[in-house]
Amino acid sequence: MSIVVVGSVAFDTVITPYGRVDDALGGAATYFAVAASYFCPVQVVAVVGDDFGAEHESVLSERGVDTRGIERAAGPTFRWGGEYSWNLNERQTLFTELNVFESFAPQLPTQYRATPYVFLANIAPQLQQSVLEQVESPKLVALDTMNYWIEGSLEELKATLRHVDILIINDEEARELAGAYNLVEAAETIRQLGPDNVIIKRGEHGATAFLTGNVFTVPGLPLRQLADPTGAGDTFAGGFMGHLASTGDHTTEGLRRAIVAGSVLASFCVESFSLDGIRGLCVDEIAARYRDFQTLTRFDDI
Ligand code: AMP
Repeated sequence: MSIVVVGSVAFDTVITPYGRVDDALGGAATYFAVAASYFCPVQVVAVVGDDFGAEHESVLSERGVDTRGIERAAGPTFRWGGEYSWNLNERQTLFTELNVFESFAPQLPTQYRATPYVFLANIAPQLQQSVLEQVESPKLVALDTMNYWIEGSLEELKATLRHVDILIINDEEARELAGAYNLVEAAETIRQLGPDNVIIKRGEHGATAFLTGNVFTVPGLPLRQLADPTGAGDTFAGGFMGHLASTGDHTTEGLRRAIVAGSVLASFCVESFSLDGIRGLCVDEIAARYRDFQTLTRFDDI
C-alpha cells in the first residue's frame, strides 16, 4: 500500500566535526520519501522555489517517488542551517529561512486522497490538520513535530494529535510535550492525547516505542563511519512507515519489525551528508544491516 507524506523539501547547510555541506538537498519530506521508497510507493506534498532544479527532483524520481504533489512557487526554496559538535545528539540551528514555505497551503492532488498511510512530517499543526481533512478515511496516520510547535501552537497540536495513531518524536520533545522528564510517564501522558503508539527517538541511543500493551527498544547501531545526523529522524520514520505500509501488519511483531527497518535506514543516513547515505541502497544491504541489528540484540536465557 502507498504512503502520502507532507513536509519540508529544503536546501540545508550543515556543519559537523566530519565536514560541511552548503545548500545540499534536505528537508523532512525528502528524507522520509527516499527511505520509505525502498518498501512501498510514496507520494510527496510539499512546496519548492524556482531554484529547485531537475537535478534535485531526480533524487526523488530516481527512487520512483511520486512528485506530482510538489508545488512550485516563485521565490527561493526553504533553507535551514545546523551545526553539530562531537556530541551528535545535540545541534544548534544556525538559521531557518522559510521562503516559499511561509505561505504554503498543502493541496493534495485528487489521486493522493484515498492513500491509506499518511505521514505528517514536522510542519505547523494547522497544516497537518488541513492535510488530514483532505484524506479519505486513512488506515494509519503518523505525525512528527518539534519544540517550536509544542511551545507556540500547543492547542492546535493537541487538536491534531486526537486524529493520530502513531506519534514519532524525539526524547526532549516528548518530555516537553508531556511536561514529564521520565519517558515512561511522558509516553503515558501523550497516549492520553490521542496516539495509541508513541515512538521516542533517542539519537545514537536508538528508539523506544510505547506500543499498545508493551514497550520495545531498539539500540543505535555502533557505526565506524559517521558524517551527519541530519534527517536521521525523518529517515527512521520513512523506513518504519514504508515497512508497515508494505506488510500491512499492525500487530506488535509487525510494528517491532518496522521499527528495526526504520533504524536500519537511519543508520545509513548518518554515515554520509545530505541524502547520499540512503539514495543508492540495494535490498541486500538493507537486509544485511537488519541482521546486524538482530545480532546486536540477541542473547540467551540465563
Ligand atoms: P531531523 O534531523 O530529522 O530533525 O530533520 C532535519 C531536516 O528538517 C532538515 O533537512 C531540515 O531542512 C528540516 N527542517 C529543519 N527545521 C525545519 C522546520 N522548522 N520546518 C520544517 N523542516 C525543517
